[in-house]
Amino acid sequence: MPRYRLEPSSAQEETLLRHCSDARYVWNLCVEQQSHWRRDRGKMPGFAERCRQLTEARADNPWLADGSVTVQQQAIRDFDQAMRNFFAGTHRRPTWRKAGRDDGFRIVAVKAQHIRRLNRNHGQVLVPKAGWVRFRWSRAVPEGAKSFRVTRDRAGRWHIAFAAVPDPVPAPGNGEVVGIDRGIAVSAALSTGEMLTFPGLSAREQSRLVNLQRKLVRARRGSNRRGKVKLAIAGVKAREADRRKDWAEKTSTDIARRFDLVRVEDLNIKNMTRSAKGTVHAPGRNVAQKAGLNREIGKSGWGILVRRLEDKAPGRVEKVPPAYTSQRCSACGHVARDNRESQAVFLCTACGFACNADVNAARNIAAGHAVKARRGDGDARPVTREPQLALLRV
Ligand SMILES: [Zn+2]
Repeated sequence: MPRYRLEPSSAQEETLLRHCSDARYVWNLCVEQQSHWRRDRGKMPGFAERCRQLTEARADNPWLADGSVTVQQQAIRDFDQAMRNFFAGTHRRPTWRKAGRDDGFRIVAVKAQHIRRLNRNHGQVLVPKAGWVRFRWSRAVPEGAKSFRVTRDRAGRWHIAFAAVPDPVPAPGNGEVVGIDRGIAVSAALSTGEMLTFPGLSAREQSRLVNLQRKLVRARRGSNRRGKVKLAIAGVKAREADRRKDWAEKTSTDIARRFDLVRVEDLNIKNMTRSAKGTVHAPGRNVAQKAGLNREIGKSGWGILVRRLEDKAPGRVEKVPPAYTSQRCSACGHVARDNRESQAVFLCTACGFACNADVNAARNIAAGHAVKARRGDGDARPVTREPQLALLRV
């Protein structure tokens, strides 16, 4: 979702902060209500019932009625979605929101005339009770935006994201399949032999971050200095996150354009962590290295990249269980623990095939090996294909 820097005046900022605090208040009420719910008390109130309760609460509490009803209702909707995600097993249970950490709110029913361009670099958006708020027109605003979300990051910067699901990128129709392996030597490897590196901080920025973190340890809790150091750290981290998002946007478009079918490892961070301890992937080897890698993945662009791919190539992304993809020879199919010469090089003990280890794994993923738990997008699920290694440009 494209984000833009929002530049509210200080008066507007107060209104935006009020919206944030309203959204957080309503969200936390939902969390509390949910925590008291027991099975025997019947059905948990849904979005509609909670909105009815909100209307009552607004009638009784003038200060609540003073806030934007859209902001408050959308907080209920967000919570509703969060509970759905929780029950679907893709997200954790929603928890309390804290001021300064999860600040944001959503506005819906946005009309085309609520967004306008001022000049080359600036636009304006109509925010309830705040009026026209300026934002940096850093790229084209998606046509037909129906809603937007305003957030405030830990560095105190305001952003606005217009919700418009990106148009799916048309499949090239060339029958090509690509496998992507989350790599060890690089961030990700394609079965074509291409290496992808998630952008991060420069060496200079990294050492600045380390310095700041040292300062933070020394700064007294609750002191002014501590607040300043925290803000500076958040600034550096936000820059890194921005770079990753940008990169994932460009890379996913490129991949969706070039290949008909994209296969990626089906992994979640939990599994990865377990595998480091030695149960799933490569039992018990390089534990420390992998634990470090897992932490990296937590912050990395991998998750974002897969999500964007699914948006842009709906029904064309397949998830392949990662079992043995790193131990199987992509040339002859021989599977053995000792097939790997090192983390970086794959050497087959049966046929002598040598290859970058990540690329070898990506080729196995492309061939759809160990495809057991297939997950597609309902009706848009792609037809089962035979491995098409011959089509891969290696
Ligand atoms: Zn082999």
